[in-house]
Amino acid sequence: MKVPLLDLDAQYRSLKDEVTVAINEVLESQNFIMGDSVRSFEQEVAEYCKAEHAFGCASGSDALLLALMAIDISPGDYVITSPFTFFATAGAISRLGAIPVFIDIEPGSFNLDPVKLEEFLKGESKLFHRIKPERNRIKAIIPVHLYGQLSNMKAIMKIAEEYDLIVIEDAAQSIGAKTEGIQAGNFGDFGCFSFFPSKNLGAYGDAGLITVKDPELAKKTNFLRLHGAHPKYYHKYVGINSRLDAIQAAVLSVKLKHLDNWSDNRRDKAMEYNQFFNEAGLVSDGPGSQSKVILPAELAGAPENGGRHIYHQYTIRVKNQDALQSYLSDQGIGTSVYYPVPLHLQECFSELGYTERDCPESSKAANEVLSLPIYPELDSDQIKFVVEKVAEFYQ
Ligand SMILES: *Cc1c(COP(=O)(O)O)cnc(C)c1O
Repeated sequence: MKVPLLDLDAQYRSLKDEVTVAINEVLESQNFIMGDSVRSFEQEVAEYCKAEHAFGCASGSDALLLALMAIDISPGDYVITSPFTFFATAGAISRLGAIPVFIDIEPGSFNLDPVKLEEFLKGESKLFHRIKPERNRIKAIIPVHLYGQLSNMKAIMKIAEEYDLIVIEDAAQSIGAKTEGIQAGNFGDFGCFSFFPSKNLGAYGDAGLITVKDPELAKKTNFLRLHGAHPKYYHKYVGINSRLDAIQAAVLSVKLKHLDNWSDNRRDKAMEYNQFFNEAGLVSDGPGSQSKVILPAELAGAPENGGRHIYHQYTIRVKNQDALQSYLSDQGIGTSVYYPVPLHLQECFSELGYTERDCPESSKAANEVLSLPIYPELDSDQIKFVVEKVAEFYQ
């Protein structure tokens, strides 16, 4: 049996006819830039995410960049984020000459720890004393909703309000995820989404979208993705060229209708994994437990309380990460480590002077996480096979 980490082919086969019609419509219209398919997709996403304003752009990375540009992040500003994320989150900050501030994660959710965030903002943390930021240069927080689960947004929003900070949610991995019934992207001032092909809602190439709460900032964001022009050829701002491709928008409109169904399916697969792992005796709770595997926790709340983990990844913590990964690979099982090097330890940020001790939970997570195959089309036999092989490894 082979269990690839991700199988996009199965989904494509099931949508091929619908998608082909949608792509052909764009071809027939010869309207490749902005146009109807982009506008309707933006409306559909706004409705789906319950957002006031939604603007397509070229990628999730650009969505983050556009949000930071909209609030005039400039050289010397500080923007707080998690070090345990894809590079783009911090890359967007650095590209504007601003300084990323890495605050460690909670071990359970893998997301930005509000307790450590507050400690920093109160000026009580070691990190604060080392970097000595000017208070009024600390501008924004980018919480990342990793693996499909929201950060502790209630706590983060409270802190953001107290310190008057803008909140930009990196929801690239969590479209449709919820806490207390509130959708990813709807807590903060901006929500940034990615439609990279492997995301829960994936395009057939690069694509992204940004949601904006404030109407003035929404207008500005809209102009910024079109070189800051308003009207055309009259440039109010220096923006960038970052549009959502019309063909991608057409593909995404077809797929959006299936998204909830896919996310529910992923959740079912995750529950099956949990059950098989428990039955295999690989997990034991309780203090001092010697369990080989720690299962993902749903800290954003259970479904009956309005929580929704959309399992972009099913990520466990394991002992002997490297060896287990190569053992599984030999058995035909694809896995991945998201992410092997936390951002505070990346070479390109070495000048910021972080050491492992600044964000110990992120460093620990990087050495322990393993994402297993999860997608709506995965079947029970495959899940069982993966768990059996993990158990075999530890015997
Ligand atoms: C995928 C991703 C991005 C970047 O999205 P792209 O569309 O690939 O540019 C940003 N942040 C996180 C957390 C992501 O997973």
